[in-house]
Amino acid sequence: MGMLKKEFISVSTEATKELAEKFGKRLWEGSCLLLSGDLGAGKTCFTQGLGQGLNIKRKISSPTFTLLKVYQEGRLVLYHLDAYRLENAFQDVGFSEFIALLGVSVIEWPEYLEPLLPKEYLKIDFGLIAEDKRLLKLEAVGDAYCALLQEVLC
Ligand code: ADP
Ligand code: MG
Repeated sequence: MGMLKKEFISVSTEATKELAEKFGKRLWEGSCLLLSGDLGAGKTCFTQGLGQGLNIKRKISSPTFTLLKVYQEGRLVLYHLDAYRLENAFQDVGFSEFIALLGVSVIEWPEYLEPLLPKEYLKIDFGLIAEDKRLLKLEAVGDAYCALLQEVLC
């Protein structure tokens, strides 16, 4: 199975959103993005840019307390998950019905949903470099995700 890694330094929230928007424009039905990194690293900021790329006008806010928010008005349905609150108390409360099957799934804190993660995905690890600077480590697993990453960050 193909695999590709790249790095990207974001110098502002706008730069993170611009990159994410490019992914949002190219994602497909059943695609899955895993976003890891500490609190405040930029995962939700990235998801907001992704939403722009999917043509979602409603403001995307953190699903930390609800676990899941669904946005239906864009090019594809966006399932935005944040498993932070689950920690190690893993539960599948129906998530497997849509993850990597329907619309676009974006999962913050994927390490807490390990049993539900698909074999192919794009994973982005967000690291803090400075106040406004982030290092994004992107890893594509599977041919479709490798092609996507190659196209967005050539
Ligand atoms: P997470 O979802 O990872 O907990 P958020 O996206 O909610 O993080 O918050 C990221 C915070 O970092 C926001 O306050 C945002 O304005 C700030 N920030 C500063 N620089 C950047 C950057 N380059 N990319 C993303 N967020 C940034
Ligand atoms: Mg978040």
